[in-house]
Amino acid sequence: MICYDYVNNYIRKTIKKNRGILRELEEYAEKNSIPIVHPEVARLLVVLGKMQKPRRILEVGTAIGYSAILFSTVLEPGGIIDTIERYEPMGEQAKENIKRAGLQDTINVIIGEASEVLECLDKKYDIIFLDAAKGQYPEFLPHCLRLLRSGGLLVSDNVLYKGMVASDDLVIRRKKTIVKRLRDYLDSLCSSEELETSILPVGDGIALSYKL
Ligand code: SAM
Repeated sequence: MICYDYVNNYIRKTIKKNRGILRELEEYAEKNSIPIVHPEVARLLVVLGKMQKPRRILEVGTAIGYSAILFSTVLEPGGIIDTIERYEPMGEQAKENIKRAGLQDTINVIIGEASEVLECLDKKYDIIFLDAAKGQYPEFLPHCLRLLRSGGLLVSDNVLYKGMVASDDLVIRRKKTIVKRLRDYLDSLCSSEELETSILPVGDGIALSYKL
């Protein structure tokens, strides 16, 4: 955790808890060590989503479908979510969960490598959520800029990567390349003429970028 434990514990105790299938998936993820968004990030996504009133959301990194199902709670009527997952068994599990939630007409799971799938997308999105291999974020960025509508929001998760991105003292040798790529990614976001970006120490670090 990149924040003090006592602060995170307080926040987690205080924020609204999910119920139903979202709660069930949180428990499943915890038991099976499946990485899903942290509870405080989930609440942030909901608040941002309610403000943005999205009709179209793109997610990169589906896992078991938790954050996609969460995003469905902020969609405008008739809206859709496209979510990309490269690991087929995970994508199939997400489809099952989405079906159980009755959201199969709303959430479209695309199984494939994101860098290839992104090339094939051409419709604009109101929100793009990056939550996949962090070392690939720089590669995804040109597609995100192309696919995000003006006034849209790009949300990038895990950008501080256990604090390593902010301090060389924390970087472990085998993570050096990912850390460098994340630093380059954040520099690109922050220097882009097309974006206004804020970096928040929430969860594992979130970059919020508004497209001008
Ligand atoms: N967003 C999910 C949630 O909070 O419920 C969690 C996503 S999990 C952190 C990351 C997922 O991204 C993994 O299931 C992984 O297989 C997938 N992934 C990683 N790199 C990818 C890529 N290049 N293309 C497609 N999927 C990718």
